[in-house]
Amino acid sequence: MNEKISREMMEFIKSHPSSFHVADGLAQILSDNGFERLYENEKWKLQKGRDYYVMRNGSSLIAFRIPEGEVHNFQMVASHSDSPSFKIKENPEMVSAGHYVELNAEKYGGMLCAPWFDRPLSIAGRVMVRADGGVKQRLINFDRDLVMIPNLAIHMDRNLNDGYKYNAQKDMIPIWGDEASEGSFDEMVAAECGAAKEDVVSTDLFLYNRMPGTVWGAQNEYISSPHLDDVQCAYASVKAMLKGHHRESISVCCVFDNEEVGSGTKQGAASSFLKDVLERIAFGLGMNAEELKMLLSESFLISADNAHAVHPNHMDKADPTNRPYMNGGIVIKYNANQRYTTDAVSAAVFQEICRKAEVPVQSYVNRSDVPGGSTLGNIASHQVSVNMVDIGLAQLAMHSPYETAGVRDTAYLIRALETFYNTGIRREKDGTYRFS
Ligand code: ZN
Repeated sequence: MNEKISREMMEFIKSHPSSFHVADGLAQILSDNGFERLYENEKWKLQKGRDYYVMRNGSSLIAFRIPEGEVHNFQMVASHSDSPSFKIKENPEMVSAGHYVELNAEKYGGMLCAPWFDRPLSIAGRVMVRADGGVKQRLINFDRDLVMIPNLAIHMDRNLNDGYKYNAQKDMIPIWGDEASEGSFDEMVAAECGAAKEDVVSTDLFLYNRMPGTVWGAQNEYISSPHLDDVQCAYASVKAMLKGHHRESISVCCVFDNEEVGSGTKQGAASSFLKDVLERIAFGLGMNAEELKMLLSESFLISADNAHAVHPNHMDKADPTNRPYMNGGIVIKYNANQRYTTDAVSAAVFQEICRKAEVPVQSYVNRSDVPGGSTLGNIASHQVSVNMVDIGLAQLAMHSPYETAGVRDTAYLIRALETFYNTGIRREKDGTYRFS
């Protein structure tokens, strides 16, 4: 069972290789399960007992379920749809030495560079096409081995194994084809869109690793796949939402784009997207501004973004007393400077949910001499200030194009989030929390 859901999740990743595809694929799952799509530029006629979702930019998505009766809060999970990659630049073709056509590309997010070399890559994303008197969005995925970033041979630089600083403009440019391929990029993009070359107006296209996800290890205990950070959490949160729903809470599931570049876009966690949606839900259900604030004061958000497992070859990089392992259950992330939003209150609430779900928890704290990363929670809290906890699943090689995690952890997260959505979280005036 644990292995099956991880395999399903990796199949989803394989067929949804960009943030646009991830949002589109999750929207499809929601539609198939009776969620109605809403549009931001239309009036919403919300009904109690119904399920909805709304998208922004085609790459971020917020789904919600409204119970039949009186509601007390929003119970929310947030994750992200994007992963570090290389974005194809405008006018990308570069002919080198008259024998190669390369594609000019730039880094998207902070990735490990070395593992991008010597493996088949492909290209996916969105293309704007002139059609019907306007411009239309098309998602494309070449879905074949298409480009490669070859390493320099060891014979040409004997120091390559002694540490190398990668230059994105010099070292990381993928080969598209030989000299006969000159001029073919725009044509092939147009063909993927089913459009004429002159009708392709602009693109957001990214490289992705073609190697599909796999289950491995002596006991089949590990998984490796592209984009585990953070599609593992995004997929699990949508699956959990389909199963769990409390009669007094509005369940909300957010998947934001652009976490890897700081979330500061109109569709990112720092945007007004979540706030706009929560306001429209409350007002759509006949509440006023004060009643919305009352709802928010009792709301809870789980920011779900993967965490670092202890690396067996680099044990010293982990904190001495907080050492999460793959398959060890959900990781709660702590940081004194609140780069992770977890505090004693939110950690207690989340741990009680996991106890109810019979899911193990672990803790992650950076070594005190390592700054560490950041995530969605504290960024989203600038717009929507509610109780929050930062969690994730333990993984190795974060931001590699092929990451490693535990085969059992996807199921743990689905079970914990399902229990979260199923449990009413109430705060009393003296700060006591009760679960129903
Ligand atoms: Zn992440």
